[in-house]
Amino acid sequence: MSDFQPAARVERIKPSPSTAAAARARELKAEGRDIVDMTVGEPDFDTPDAIKEAGIVAIRAGDTKYTPVNGTLALRRAIAGRLQRHTGHAYPLDAITAGGGGKQIIFLALMASVDNQAEVIIPAPYWVSYPDMVLANEGKPVIVTCPEADGFKLKPEALEAAITPRTRWLILNAPSNPTGATYSRAELEALAAVLQRHPHVWVLTDEIYDEIWFGEGKAVSLVEAAPSLVDRIFLVNGVSKSYAMTGWRIGYGAGPAPLVAAVNKLQSQISSCPSSISQAAAAAALDGDQAFIIDSVAAYRRRRDIAVERLNAIDGISCTAPEGAFYLFVNCAGLIGKTAPDGRKITNDLDFVLYLLDCGVAAIQGAAYGLSPYFRLSIATSEAQIEKACALIAKACAALS
Ligand code: PLP
Repeated sequence: MSDFQPAARVERIKPSPSTAAAARARELKAEGRDIVDMTVGEPDFDTPDAIKEAGIVAIRAGDTKYTPVNGTLALRRAIAGRLQRHTGHAYPLDAITAGGGGKQIIFLALMASVDNQAEVIIPAPYWVSYPDMVLANEGKPVIVTCPEADGFKLKPEALEAAITPRTRWLILNAPSNPTGATYSRAELEALAAVLQRHPHVWVLTDEIYDEIWFGEGKAVSLVEAAPSLVDRIFLVNGVSKSYAMTGWRIGYGAGPAPLVAAVNKLQSQISSCPSSISQAAAAAALDGDQAFIIDSVAAYRRRRDIAVERLNAIDGISCTAPEGAFYLFVNCAGLIGKTAPDGRKITNDLDFVLYLLDCGVAAIQGAAYGLSPYFRLSIATSEAQIEKACALIAKACAALS
């Protein structure tokens, strides 16, 4: 028996529920069960060939050494160009840092700025990692519920009410995981008007899904909508979702140089730098042909339309069409209190998700995202799998009494 005693920060957090749900689905499949896995948070597409090729070229050219802590000049120039095109803001290169995924960048930004129970406002439903990252860094997550009736979006009044003298950050994520909700320019301006009154509050804007957007034009960045706040906005993005590069592990952050310097100082003691090869590939992705994004977003849009139509035809559940990202956050209030054929009661969304798993579909309970009763389905899977999952969900719902 090992007498290992984890540090308090480990005890404060839980493993990512989405990773755990995906692992459970894989286990059941390995046991021979036919499970349609709708938990996956990564594109089902392969990384485009031209991007892979840039990685191969980097290996052959000997770009296989440590790079600057904050990323190569080529990558930071590519990021600066992309940010300028997307937000209109010209970030100097020392205001940009690259790391091993958007996840690592967010963690480092919180590690660099949060301690002693500083408060971090997190609108719910939220990406599962934010509260745990805040807790791991000795901060206090302040969860603000954003109901479906408000489009799952933070309202200015709710933001105002959540701010205290101890507030350090507001974390905004749009398009959102898990709802796909995205703020219009006017909605961002209204939030910015509140933030203008509270100069001690900084905003971490997680725009990792900004390319996966089903509306007209492009998803509006907070930096574009509220340029007067740029001195306290930390913008996070990456190549994982837009370019199907989850395994390459490159994300980036851009914001006030002193914060970026603090992130770099931590990074210098944690990983030294992100992978040199992945950086070359990410630079090629950002600078190169963007046709992959257009084609993949068209596929996600078709899948969304099919899934939303099928799900809304099922009694007991309903689903608002997401404006972006590749998830559906499905309301299952109409099923709570029902009984499964084997006699078990569906008392909450976790019960429903476990029942659904027995019926052959893996999903994630809304409780993991801070709002019940809902469940999240990923549509980063084929139309055939989506049709199959929706048919199984319909059957599972019809069998409840
Ligand atoms: N932010 C959100 C909202 C996400 O859903 C994810 C991944 O699931 C990330 C950030 C981090 O992505 P990565 O670390 O692959 O860049």
